[in-house]
Amino acid sequence: MLIVVSGPSGVGKGTVISRLLERQPELAKSVSCTTRGPRPGEQDGVDYHFVSVDRFRQMVAAGEFLEYARVHQDLWYGTPIAPVEAALAAGTDIALEIDYQGARSVRQAFGNRAALVFIAPPSWDALVARLQGRSTESADATAKRLASAKREFRHIGMFEYVVVNDELERAVIELESILIAERCRLESIDWQELQRQLSSEA
Ligand code: ADP
Ligand code: 5GP
Repeated sequence: MLIVVSGPSGVGKGTVISRLLERQPELAKSVSCTTRGPRPGEQDGVDYHFVSVDRFRQMVAAGEFLEYARVHQDLWYGTPIAPVEAALAAGTDIALEIDYQGARSVRQAFGNRAALVFIAPPSWDALVARLQGRSTESADATAKRLASAKREFRHIGMFEYVVVNDELERAVIELESILIAERCRLESIDWQELQRQLSSEA
């Protein structure tokens, strides 16, 4: 299954997902392509694949994205399709940290095989404080992310789950609980095979 994690920049998606990956080592994480430059400490191929606009366009033309979208007015972000297909073929669950436009595309492509989770801040002021406290963006880039945040909030209704990232540990446990519950859905398992086995043993 795919677990899609959306929410405004600065809400703590990256922090919550990295804690989830520590707890669920068999969960894979999709590494997106972006046309934005790396922040201090971000590693190419780990946090994102940092690509030029030309390269991004080539990848779009070559059909290399599962989904892609323009975010923060002038930046492009996209999910490479090959690692997602490889993970699913291997039976590995995969987390996608993408915006609401990407979440909508994934829902259309994967239906119930994707769980859509929105990470919300405890308040607007807390979001602003986290974004500013991270100190990774210029004032202009921060303003664009706050404008994007308002757009994200207008689309909360399309998600299936909301996790309020107030206390970090609780948010991580809630996201992990969603993952575990989704794995137990009838459509996530080969229930007909299970039924056959149980019936032949009865
Ligand atoms: P995102 O990936 O959504 O852009 P980050 O994971 O980079 O957000 O988190 C933004 C900032 O908020 C970071 O400085 C992070 O340490 C901090 N943060 C994350 N979760 C919490 C939390 N529950 N309480 C307080 N600060 C948090
Ligand atoms: P930043 O990390 O630049 O502050 O914000 C990135 C924004 O783009 C976040 O809202 C994040 O969810 C979104 N994003 C990251 N990767 C992708 C992707 O591959 N596709 C889409 N649609 N959105 C993405």
